[in-house]
Amino acid sequence: MNGKKIIIAIDGHSSCGKSTVAREIARRLNYIFIDSGAMYRAVTLYCLRNGIVDKGVVNHAALIADLGKIKVYFKNNPSNNHNDIWLNGENVEDEIRLLEVSQNVSPVAAVAEVRHLLVSLQQEMGNTKGIVMDGRDIGTVVFPEAELKIFMTAQPDVRAQRRFDELTAKGEKVSYDEIRANILERDRYDETREQSPLRKADDAIVLDNSAMTRKEQLDWVLNHVSKV
Ligand code: C5P
Repeated sequence: MNGKKIIIAIDGHSSCGKSTVAREIARRLNYIFIDSGAMYRAVTLYCLRNGIVDKGVVNHAALIADLGKIKVYFKNNPSNNHNDIWLNGENVEDEIRLLEVSQNVSPVAAVAEVRHLLVSLQQEMGNTKGIVMDGRDIGTVVFPEAELKIFMTAQPDVRAQRRFDELTAKGEKVSYDEIRANILERDRYDETREQSPLRKADDAIVLDNSAMTRKEQLDWVLNHVSKV
């Protein structure tokens, strides 16, 4: 890779550990990590709080009218050196992970005006290179010129178990079946929407991590980085 900074785009299915891998790769390479899903989740949290989305149904007119009032950005959290997501002056890093947000985010993320706004913010962040961004359309729409594109996936049962363990460890009362259903429903929604549907970019390489440890995944990605 001869020391030049590149853009690494990581897309894939819900809850397969994209952000975990992306964050660690960015740490190793001294790159910036951007969790683009957190931005869609923050907009969804705004919509939930303001009655703009309810049970997966979006009030489009209200959302478009309020778009100028929704300020979403990242700020470094000195306690763990993570880039936390902020919504209109409030750190919402924890709240955006609630199941209620997961259950409403895909319809909000399917709205063209929301995507235009967030994609342009994401593209600005990539101006300086040296970035790892994960999401659903990073290799296809946000950075089609990214030097390395990875498409991550894992078996649905594996993904559901991992997410269930994560949420219950945080004390959230959720059922495994509810989590599994949400993961599959989000994939279906994200893959079939009209605006930038989730799909593997033609030049992306697939990482199925169903039976891989975190270390194996990191080594796999770093090996591909070294070949760029
Ligand atoms: O990555 P995460 O699961 O947090 O993303 C939440 C949701 O945000 C996805 O299910 C998808 O609907 C949306 N999303 C998107 N495009 C991205 C990132 C996330 O549409 N680049």
